[in-house]
Amino acid sequence: MNDPQNAYRELHDFQLETAYYQSLGALAGWDQRTYLPAKGHEHRARQFAALAKLLHQRRSDPRIGDWLEAAAAAPFMQDPKSPEAANVREWRRAYERTRRVPEDLAVALARAQSEGESAWEELRRRNDWEAFRPYLERLVRLTREYAEAVGYQTEPYDALLEDYEPGERARSLQDLFAVLGRETRALLDAILGSAKQPPAGVLEGDYPVETQARVVRELVGRIGYDLDGGRIDPTAHPFELSVGPGDVRITTRYFPNYLGSALFGAIHEAGHAMYEQGLPAEYWGTPAGEAAGMGVHESQSRLWENAVGRSRGFWLYFYPLLQSNFSALANVGLDEFHRAVNAVRPSLIRVEADELTYNLHIQIRFELELALFRDELSVADLPGAWNAKYREYLGIEPPDYKDGVMQDVHWAGGLFGYFPTYTLGNVYAAQLFEAAKADLGDLEEAFARGEFAPLLTWLRQHIHSQGRRYQPRRLIERASGNPPTAAVLIGYLKKRFGNLYDI
Ligand code: ZN
Repeated sequence: MNDPQNAYRELHDFQLETAYYQSLGALAGWDQRTYLPAKGHEHRARQFAALAKLLHQRRSDPRIGDWLEAAAAAPFMQDPKSPEAANVREWRRAYERTRRVPEDLAVALARAQSEGESAWEELRRRNDWEAFRPYLERLVRLTREYAEAVGYQTEPYDALLEDYEPGERARSLQDLFAVLGRETRALLDAILGSAKQPPAGVLEGDYPVETQARVVRELVGRIGYDLDGGRIDPTAHPFELSVGPGDVRITTRYFPNYLGSALFGAIHEAGHAMYEQGLPAEYWGTPAGEAAGMGVHESQSRLWENAVGRSRGFWLYFYPLLQSNFSALANVGLDEFHRAVNAVRPSLIRVEADELTYNLHIQIRFELELALFRDELSVADLPGAWNAKYREYLGIEPPDYKDGVMQDVHWAGGLFGYFPTYTLGNVYAAQLFEAAKADLGDLEEAFARGEFAPLLTWLRQHIHSQGRRYQPRRLIERASGNPPTAAVLIGYLKKRFGNLYDI
């Protein structure tokens, strides 16, 4: 027990066993979101509750503290970049956070989150903000208590960010969004004033679902998603879920009259899945074998969905596959199609937003969350503040709560601090794509030849294989040569939409 190496080994085996239980839960979660019979949900909820209790007990087991203390003297701790040292650091961080939250608060928060989500499903459908408001008020109150319990240096919101993107801070995000938002709105004005608008209706038409499923499968396989270690299923809300090495699954959603959802949903989720498939399997179940953070995860999906999947080179290669499968595209030229998949239009719904305006949706949510947790805004005033920001940033206003302040599940589930990771993903993706181009040459030419392996190999080397060895900002800085800022993303967006809209 006193021997540092022994302590590390015991800790490692204990954490690995926890990870196996957790991955069985992940598998049950995949099943719940895909093929679970309607009558099975109640039993599944009880299974999850039992598992959550077991996992909480294991994560707060006081032996972890003893093992961590003993392992701190191990020789591998001399090299902070070693996988073992990274594991000890991350295990300590997780253990201390878990231990700081009183059990009654953890239980109250978990209950408020699950009740909030259930209430949201029903109340959003009925557009009933007043009935939903008390759930949200309770969630904000408990989340604030949580932030106070885990602690922070500058402000409570930083404590929340720490759960999704370790090391990220509210103040630096504010600066990032201020610059990005200003530039995005200037670009949006220019686009809306351009005479060269994309053709409408190209992606709407007769797109048989079985054909879409076949084409999508072919496409994600060719860009590098290993289907022998994965599968793709239909769901209402696309997601990626990793069970473990050799089993990384994705879903997408199909509309018989619209091609865009299935196509870009699948490429996006395949981007997440390729990250999981590229994590070092020998460290599975430990931080060294885990993704670095939600923003880094999102950078992988955004990079493949947008930088790759909406590029001209990509469609030079893939458009024949689409044209030969869908008669709706028989008379649509490549240029027309390429412009259609890059159409920019202010819209109310985040998940359907284009590549440019997406960040404005995130900025709105981030600014409102920050105001809530800085006590500058009350939950009661949230709908008015939401609508005012949509008017200001996107020039449109939601006609109801359903497609306004109640549109996302995140707040209903208590996920405050999560939204900014979507934009961080875009920021990281732009920097990684630039850096990969600098190393590999003209990537679009490679895409046009169907060569995606060089890019994937580059990402494997610089991001995937690193696991959680570095904090996100440091990982991106190492891979791209610069700490994350909005500058590269702004340059990328200006170039892409400047060409497409002649501005
Ligand atoms: Zn994603």
